[in-house]
Amino acid sequence: MSKMQLKATALTQQVMKEYYANCRESQARGRKVAWATVMMPTELLLAADIDVLFPENHAATCGAKALGPELSELAEAAGLSQETCSYVRCDLGVRKGGTSPWGGMPAPDIVFCATSSCTTVTKWFEELERFYACRFAMVDMPYNFSGAITDHSVDYIVAQLEDCIFQIEALTGKPYDYARLEEVVELAETAHEYWRKCLELGATNPSPITTTDILVNMGPIVCLRGTQAAVDVYKTLYEELLERIRIGYVAAGEERFRLVWDNIPFWFGLGSTVRRLSAYGAVIVGATYLYHWVRSVDPKDPLRSMGRAYSTAITMNQSVLHKIEKISNMLKLYQADGLIIHSNRSCKPDSLGSLDLKRAVETNLNIPVLMVDGDHTDSRAVSDAVVQTRMEAFIEMLERRKFGELRLAPKLV
Ligand code: SF4
Repeated sequence: MSKMQLKATALTQQVMKEYYANCRESQARGRKVAWATVMMPTELLLAADIDVLFPENHAATCGAKALGPELSELAEAAGLSQETCSYVRCDLGVRKGGTSPWGGMPAPDIVFCATSSCTTVTKWFEELERFYACRFAMVDMPYNFSGAITDHSVDYIVAQLEDCIFQIEALTGKPYDYARLEEVVELAETAHEYWRKCLELGATNPSPITTTDILVNMGPIVCLRGTQAAVDVYKTLYEELLERIRIGYVAAGEERFRLVWDNIPFWFGLGSTVRRLSAYGAVIVGATYLYHWVRSVDPKDPLRSMGRAYSTAITMNQSVLHKIEKISNMLKLYQADGLIIHSNRSCKPDSLGSLDLKRAVETNLNIPVLMVDGDHTDSRAVSDAVVQTRMEAFIEMLERRKFGELRLAPKLV
């Protein structure tokens, strides 16, 4: 069957292009601009007609355009350690005059950060506040060990979200529109639901979509949840996946080995990773990272539901045991033959417990695990030759386990 293009991808490209163009002109159109972390409940801001940009998303785009080394070097020359997350280094590199694929981001009137992903973001956003002399709001999301969040913790988050609303009112000079918040949360919930259903359809064996195609369509769930545009993209994608399953379309053409990827991908090397693996019929059918955007918010109880959703969606805010359970369930759902763990030098919080995860998956599920050292944005921290060698050895092992012999000769790609 010939390769089918996804209409959803064209729609994603269109809505993201419009989003960036609109944001670039926000202040000229008299709108306020916020910069936020991806784990901040930005529905609050959209409901106040504030345009929201995400430095992490900007940095990931810099990574995808292979700008990581250039921008990191500028940030390191300005004093940041190479141990600092490369998203932060990319952001500072652009502010030091480095290239931005978007031509930079408009200066923020306010910066918002939530701590559920890491503590690096607090220092990063405090520095942004000083750099732009703008307002600053932070939501401290309590760490939860069990995966379930207590009412006491939700109360604590809600009180901080209410403080954010005061800040928003002070910025816009208008009383907060709670009815509009309900509408935005309703749209966010619809987008989250379609996103979740798309990921679950991706688990079909054989899969109607590869993880790379889902990553390419991630922009709207990160930047535009709470808008009709995000709903349209994921409704379109969902319907296309149903149709692909109905006609028996297999996205990778061949699935000798179904793999799941843990941690943020190498943004600069998505294509080469796929090519390396596909030479052996190995396909990444699922990625834990995508599940950070599987959340549920309730329009009738927006603040409490956002508190719950945003503090539990991300595994970095929960115990290693919870992460192991979540990923083990995912490996079963995806009928995975193997797990690749990216030990990410930049995102240490997401790499914490990787060895425990490896051991648990190998022992409890009898699923082979490959660990590769790398970085999501700074390609200087990734050795292509080492990744290639490890992947080859891993595939050889999968071959022998699944087929009892080596059927494909390893080949360099
Ligand atoms: S360390 Fe990880 S969670 Fe923190 S900003 Fe970097 S990529 Fe995001």
